[in-house]
Amino acid sequence: EAAKLDAFDNHERVWHGRDEERGLNAIVAIHNTALGPGLGGTRVWPHETFEAALTDVLRLSRGMTFKSAVAGMDFGGGKALIIANSKTDKTPALLEAYAEMLAALNGQYFTGEDVGFTVADADFLRERTPNVTGTTVGGSGNPSPVTAHGVFLGIKAALKHRGVATLDGVHVAVQGLGSVGWTLCEKLHAEGARLSVTDIDATRMEQAKDAFGATPVALDDILKVNADVFAPCALGGVLSAENIPLLGAKIVAGAANNPLVRHEDARLLMERGVLYAPDYVINAGGLLNVAAELAPGGYDREATMAKVAKIPETLTDIFARAEAQKRPTNDVAAEIAFERINAARQR
Ligand code: NAD
Repeated sequence: EAAKLDAFDNHERVWHGRDEERGLNAIVAIHNTALGPGLGGTRVWPHETFEAALTDVLRLSRGMTFKSAVAGMDFGGGKALIIANSKTDKTPALLEAYAEMLAALNGQYFTGEDVGFTVADADFLRERTPNVTGTTVGGSGNPSPVTAHGVFLGIKAALKHRGVATLDGVHVAVQGLGSVGWTLCEKLHAEGARLSVTDIDATRMEQAKDAFGATPVALDDILKVNADVFAPCALGGVLSAENIPLLGAKIVAGAANNPLVRHEDARLLMERGVLYAPDYVINAGGLLNVAAELAPGGYDREATMAKVAKIPETLTDIFARAEAQKRPTNDVAAEIAFERINAARQR
């Protein structure tokens, strides 16, 4: 599997856009377009080095190829990263420069929201360039609630696979109380789950304590919480060979893209008896939602939610295959993606 994955390491196209005057330093990466044009959100994050930003966007765009493929969509993998602090640097001038960069790509890349890039930003771009999804006008709006819904259904599927039929009294440790993490907490709380939460923003933790009776936990301790489920909903790279031995939960199921530092870390999880819901399978709801805007008849919420409702089925199938073949779940998920992409290439 590792060799097959390496063969998927090559990206088709990567662009670097710079406009020093307007503060733009952005990378757009298209990983694979065998199934269709590159679709994936724009992340705004102040990476300390260009290399770190490039690694992030390459991993994210590659993940989008797998996400679309497993969800049965006719899109390829793409993602953009603007190296900036979304709270202090994301000026209209910067976004203007970014819109010009997207326009110059001439439809090779479709974008939408991601960490640090909001619906308002998508609307701003859409007034200046086409190929922007997740917009208010003529679009489907914020994809995060749909992502959260898919993750919620995925957590239930993982619990069910382990013989737990209800969320009542189930303990979930949620890392990151942003757009997805917060909505996920609402859903889990409504069905009786007990929550432990963390966020770099302490006020979010206080709000979660008030709203859901959640227990705030220090950033470094969330992994160690003796919960039933660990739900990573912040950034990627949170589980590694170093800290997997400290993990308290027996299920990892959350929204974050690339929560594992290395693909192979899923094997370590398996060896510890931890059930891992592959990121791009469980978090596909948002992508399904924005992609629906590009369907011939336009956005159809009912049809989209029916597709999101299939996420638990796909996960259950992956869990069962992985168990029967004694393989990590992310190897099985990757195999499903390879099959679709290779079949499309041969057509
Ligand atoms: P967001 O920016 O709204 O929320 C992220 C939250 O994580 C913020 O509250 C931030 O303060 C917190 N955070 C950052 N670093 C942290 C750390 N080290 N420890 C604890 N908390 C930390 O982003 P979002 O849209 O909710 O997305 C969350 C994750 O889900 C991201 O990895 C994103 O790529 C992924 N995802 C999102 C969507 C979507 O529809 N929004 C879809 C698929 C995947």
